Amino acid sequence: MNPAPTSSMQDASTQALQGRRVGVLGYGSQGRAHALNLRDSGLQVTVGLRPGGTTAAQARTDGFSVAAPAEVAGGSDLLAVLTPDMVQPQLYREAIEPHLHTGAALLFAHGLNVHYGMIAPRRDLDVVLVAPKGPGALVRREFERGAGVPCLFAVHQDASGHARERVLAYAAGIGGARTQLIETSFREETETDLFGEQAVLCGGATELVKQGFETLVEAGYQPEVAYYECMHELKLIVDLLYEGGLAQMHRYISETAQYGDLTRGPRVVNAETRQRMREVLGEIRDGTFAREWVAEYAAGNPQYKALKQRDLTHPIEQVGAALRARMGWLRAGRDAAPAAPKRAAGG
Ligand code: NAD
Ligand code: MG
Repeated sequence: MNPAPTSSMQDASTQALQGRRVGVLGYGSQGRAHALNLRDSGLQVTVGLRPGGTTAAQARTDGFSVAAPAEVAGGSDLLAVLTPDMVQPQLYREAIEPHLHTGAALLFAHGLNVHYGMIAPRRDLDVVLVAPKGPGALVRREFERGAGVPCLFAVHQDASGHARERVLAYAAGIGGARTQLIETSFREETETDLFGEQAVLCGGATELVKQGFETLVEAGYQPEVAYYECMHELKLIVDLLYEGGLAQMHRYISETAQYGDLTRGPRVVNAETRQRMREVLGEIRDGTFAREWVAEYAAGNPQYKALKQRDLTHPIEQVGAALRARMGWLRAGRDAAPAAPKRAAGG
């Protein structure tokens, strides 16, 4: 493991939490990354998990003391709730609210439960948010190389008068302050995060990939060729966008590709798509999506499971698995994330 990055600036920015007890509930994608980064930033971290789970073993292997969520809540000055969103309301009622001491801070990495009222935190608590704009493995990897992932932060409730210092100290502790911190509200973080993962990042992008693949295959082209064209090469384009926006992409693709992009792209993703995007955003804003997801989860996820199964058995997955088995470099640098169940959502 790399040595903990040290800089006086960073020590100063985690000041509000130095000597305080930080509890982290959940040790999955975000939980593990936050806990490791906070500890490397000199903070005192305890992990709260149900006994016997697979991630509890991982947390112990990583050298953390692990206890039941209620016990960790009772012993924390700041408690980060990093379990899956849908288990948080019950966890709050049973393990957090009765135990977290007066004046403590309650931190989330996504504003969903507080924004839609599934969790109504006690009035004496500071309620804050730090949402890294990237998956946990990246939050850890960037920290280890002395960088960080940009984070949104927000204060929902400032009972102590120090909520902002505390949330900034946490963001600094996970490495977010090394790149960029953007202040937001629980509402803006929640609504934009849901929209991004539904319309563009996860839902939009994968639907575009699958439909492109299907169009080529039904027209008689080889599935292997369609796979490279519609899924594999997407990364090359996304990397260019990430590094330097549209200009960087235009710099690296051919003139023929540019002309095709500029004239055909708007025919594929068009005014009707925009209208659908507005509808999706509307359902996020009026709470329709959150109510539907809560009901689905409560019913045991029948629709979620069926739709996910359809994705996992899509022909592009069979072709892709065979082709990726020959890409040795993919196995070498795989995310060092723990064996946690991945949530069905993006960054
Ligand atoms: P995850 O599914 O990767 O990990 C969940 C962890 O919680 C696991 O350690 C699991 O064992 C534990 N857990 C599950 N049920 C529990 C319970 N009842 N009591 C105690 N522990 C329990 O979760 P994640 O993807 O890291 O998401 C955590 C939070 O971070 C969510 O609010 C999510 O919206 C937010 N977030 C996630 C990402 C991401 O990239 N995954 C990005 C930004 C924000
Ligand atoms: Mg998201």
